[in-house]
Amino acid sequence: MLDERDEIIQRAREKYIDTGLTRNVTEALRLYLANDASPDEQIPLYITTPEIRRMREILKQIRPRCDDCDGELQMQTNALDRDGKKYPTAWICKKCGMIYYSDKSLSEWLKELNHEDREQKLRAADESDGADVPA
Ligand SMILES: [Zn+2]
Repeated sequence: MLDERDEIIQRAREKYIDTGLTRNVTEALRLYLANDASPDEQIPLYITTPEIRRMREILKQIRPRCDDCDGELQMQTNALDRDGKKYPTAWICKKCGMIYYSDKSLSEWLKELNHEDREQKLRAADESDGADVPA
C-alpha cells in the first residue's frame, strides 16, 4: 500500500526517471517538487525527508538490537502487520526477521533516540574519564 509520500515519489519517478531525464530519485523528486507538485504535495515530503535523513544518522550511532537474537534492527515507516493493520513505524531484525510494530511516529522515535544518543555520549565521556583514574 502506498502512502501519500510514496505516491509522490512514484509520480516523480514516472515523469523524470522513466523518461530518462535522470537516474537519481532525489534529483527526480527535486524536479518534481520544483515543476509539478501542488502545494498540498510539498508538505509530506518536506516534513518527512529531513527526519528520515536525521534518523539514518542517529541509527548509525545507536543501532538498536533485537530482543530475540541481538541482531541489528532496521526501521521501517508505514509498516503493515499480517492482518493489514498499519503502524507508523516498525523495527525489523535484519538477522531473524522479527518485526516490532510501534505506534510511535518517526518524529517521536527521533526525539527518543536523540535523547538516548546524548545519554550514550555522556556515559562514554564518563567512562573514558574514569579509565584514567587508577583503581
Ligand atoms: Zn532477531
